[in-house]
Amino acid sequence: MTTFSLDPGPDQIAVRDWLHGFAADVVRPAAAEWDEREETPWPIIQEAAKLGIYSLDFYAQQFFDPSGVGIPIAMEELFWGDAGIGLAITGTTLAAVAVLANGTDEQIGTWAPQMFGTPDDVKVAAFCSSEPDAGSDVSALRTRAVYDQAKDEWVLNGTKTWATNGGIAHVHVVVATVDPELGARGQASFLIPPGTKGLSQGQKFKKHGIRASHTAEVVLDDVRIPGHCLLGGKEKLDARLARAREGAKGGGKNAAMATFEASRPAVGAQAIGIARAAYEVALDYAKTRVQFGRPIIENQGVAFQLADMKTRIDAARLLVWRASWMAVNNQPFTNAEGSMSKLYAGETAKFVTAQAMQILGGNGFTREYPVERMHRDSAIYTVFEGTSEIQRLVIARAISGAPIR
Ligand SMILES: Cc1cc2nc3c(=O)[nH]c(=O)nc-3n(C[C@H](O)[C@H](O)[C@H](O)COP(=O)(O)OP(=O)(O)OC[C@H]3O[C@@H](n4cnc5c(N)ncnc54)[C@H](O)[C@@H]3O)c2cc1C
Repeated sequence: MTTFSLDPGPDQIAVRDWLHGFAADVVRPAAAEWDEREETPWPIIQEAAKLGIYSLDFYAQQFFDPSGVGIPIAMEELFWGDAGIGLAITGTTLAAVAVLANGTDEQIGTWAPQMFGTPDDVKVAAFCSSEPDAGSDVSALRTRAVYDQAKDEWVLNGTKTWATNGGIAHVHVVVATVDPELGARGQASFLIPPGTKGLSQGQKFKKHGIRASHTAEVVLDDVRIPGHCLLGGKEKLDARLARAREGAKGGGKNAAMATFEASRPAVGAQAIGIARAAYEVALDYAKTRVQFGRPIIENQGVAFQLADMKTRIDAARLLVWRASWMAVNNQPFTNAEGSMSKLYAGETAKFVTAQAMQILGGNGFTREYPVERMHRDSAIYTVFEGTSEIQRLVIARAISGAPIR
C-alpha cells in the first residue's frame, strides 16, 4: 500500500523542538543587540557549538535524514529565532556543501571538520563565488587560477565580493576560472588554507539587514596553494576541461551552480523561519490591540491579511519540503523545483514581514518590536543564492526548454 504523509516523524520533531528551544531562549533574546552591533556573534556560535548545533555532524545528520526534511526543519527554527544570527551560525555550511559536493573523500575528511573548528575554538568558513562584475552571471568570473607545474601549486589572483564570513573565515572556498574561454565550464573551486599569504579582507559591508552576519570583499593577491587544494583533484578537472574543449555535452558541471542548486531549498526554509516569526508577532498583536472598542483582528481587513500570510507561509513550506525531499532522494529537478521553492519562500518572507509591520501600525515601524528587523532581514531572500529574477529564469528555461534570456 502506498502511504503519503507530511507529518514529521519523532526524530524530526525532536530536532525541531530542540532547535526551537535554542532559538527562543538564546537567539531571539540576543537578536536586537547583534543587529545593532553589526558584528559576528561569536559567543552565540560558541554556545551553538557546545550544544552540538554548530557542527559538521549535526548538519550531516540533518542532510542525510531519510525524511528529506531535516535541513529545512532545522533552518526554519534557527531563522525563526533571528536571521542575522541564524546566518552567522549556518554561513559555514555553504562552504562545507561546496567541499561535500565537489571534493574527494580525503578533502572532505580533512577540510570539512576544520571549517567548524571545535566548541572551545570555533571557526567559520566562507564560499567566495561572486565578484564585482560577476553576480547573477557567474560565467563572467575574472578571478584566475594558474597551475605552477614545477611546484605543484595553484596561483590565484582576483577580487571576490559579498562573501559571507569573507576574511574572517578559517577556510575560504574560492571559485576561479582556469580557462576563461570556456566560461562557467572552465571554472573550478579551491580551498584556501588558514593563514595563506596573499588573501586579505577588503571592505566589510554595512547592510540593510542580516547585520549579525559578516559580509565582505576578499582580495586574492598571488595566493599560492598546494595542488591538493583543488577541489576534486587535477585529474578530474583536466578530464572535465578536455570534454568542455571538445564541446561535449555534460563536459563538467559549473562548480558554483552545483553548490547553489543543492542549497536553494535550505535557503527557502530560512526565509520561512523569518516569515513565520513575523506572522506570529502580528497575530498576537492583532488579537490584543484594541481600536474602536474591539481587537483589530475583528476587522475583516486585518484578519484577511493574516489569512493570506499564513496561507503563503504554508504553501512556501510545502514547496521547500518537496524540493528538499527530492534532493535527498535524488529526484531530477525537471521543473527547477529547488528554484521554485527559493523563489516563493523569499518573496513570501518579504510579503509577510511587510504585512506584519502594517498590522503593528506605528509600533511596527520602531525597533521596540522585532518586525521591522525581520522585514529588513527578509529583503536579502530575493537577492542572494540567485535573485528572484534568476530563479524565474531557471524555472522558465526548465519548463519550456526554450533559450529564454
Ligand atoms: C548579504 C549578502 C551575502 C552574500 N553572500 C554570498 C556568499 O557567501 N558567497 C557568494 O559568492 N556570494 C554571496 N552574495 C552575492 C549574491 O549571491 C549576489 O548579490 C547575487 O547573486 C546578485 O548578484 P549582484 O548583486 O551582482 O546583482 P546583479 O547580478 O547585478 O543583478 C542586479 C539586478 O538585475 C537583475 N538581473 C540580472 N540578470 C538578469 C537577467 N538575466 N534577467 C532578469 N534580471 C536580471 C537581478 O535579478 C537584480 O535584480 C551575497 C550577497 C549579499 C548581499
